[in-house]
Amino acid sequence: MVKKFSDQNKVYRKIAYCCLSVTVIEILMEYFGSCLCKGIKFKIVGGFESFYLCHCRYCRKDTGSAHAANLFSTSAKIEWLKSETEIKTYQPPKSSHVKAFCANCGSALPNLQMDNKLLVVPAGCLDTELLKIPDAHIFISNKANWDESLEKVKKFERLP
Ligand SMILES: [Zn+2]
Ligand SMILES: [Zn+2]
Repeated sequence: MVKKFSDQNKVYRKIAYCCLSVTVIEILMEYFGSCLCKGIKFKIVGGFESFYLCHCRYCRKDTGSAHAANLFSTSAKIEWLKSETEIKTYQPPKSSHVKAFCANCGSALPNLQMDNKLLVVPAGCLDTELLKIPDAHIFISNKANWDESLEKVKKFERLP
């Protein structure tokens, strides 16, 4: 018996194996996200297998920052709730890097790669609080020269 129910932003799938009197509750998280102009809104149901901070030269250009922060899933499903603006994608020649973005505001957006088998989600576009913490920094060999001991840099709650 598979029973689906939900509360707040979690979707649970209750699987009861009657003959074994065992109940397995699989938590399928539900995440909502959007771009800066709110022209694009989406929902993702499922979990992420990995969360990488990528310091490669493509991700640094793509984000304009020290690294990208991308979530990866081969099982989660994405549903576009609002697409008032166009979603564009760009792939630099001879690379496997793909950037999906809102044509109106330029915000990074989720995209499907590897024949739609891999969902890649920029962590920053999620509006739902993400409980998963990054698994690793990758492509450290390409990191910016100023990207060193950043946790030691002075911190301010707001503008200094
Ligand atoms: Zn937008
Ligand atoms: Zn990268």
